[in-house]
Amino acid sequence: MNSCIINKYAEIIETRRKIENEINELEQDEKIKRYLSLKEENKHLSDEQSYLYRRVKMNEYQKCNHIWVNSKIIYNDMMNNAITRCGCIKCGLDQSVTDRQRGWLTFDEQVMYDFLTQNPTNINIGTDTDINCDLSLAKAIYKRIDEKKHNASAIDKIKYLEYALYKIRDSKVTDERKNNRIKRLGLKKCFRRWDSSDVWSS
Ligand SMILES: [Zn+2]
Repeated sequence: MNSCIINKYAEIIETRRKIENEINELEQDEKIKRYLSLKEENKHLSDEQSYLYRRVKMNEYQKCNHIWVNSKIIYNDMMNNAITRCGCIKCGLDQSVTDRQRGWLTFDEQVMYDFLTQNPTNINIGTDTDINCDLSLAKAIYKRIDEKKHNASAIDKIKYLEYALYKIRDSKVTDERKNNRIKRLGLKKCFRRWDSSDVWSS
């Protein structure tokens, strides 16, 4: 048993020596040198891009005169109460990201998380609509309203949003038309959160 382990160990050392020699030789190759330098440059640019994206988004959240919808309502059975999380239909700032552990969030969500924890009073800025709506749906509708009625006041845009949601929720349409609507609004293919009750979770 012992000699078997010693032999295996020696075999690995010898194989690794050969591999390392080959790696060293390949690293002298011009094409591979170029590949490694491009990879390093790309990594550097990717880090810089992430840094700039973070700054741009932080600035956007800071400057936004938010329009909030209730995008998540968490019912607490034990306490017999509900906590409401809002999302901005203009800049996309989503308060519900702070309910999750930062390490589990995507990069975009981490930027929101950092902004909200560094600027806790920012959620008091803007207009509270008290509309219960999935944030991606509300954002998609608002985007279309803003394109068509860019100069309308925030109050009027909110009224258009309420009317659009009323029309969507009141009409009984086929799955095909719903899928067309998903495409038109640029929502994810799997989107199925049309109703106000969809914001409730426990
Ligand atoms: Zn906003």
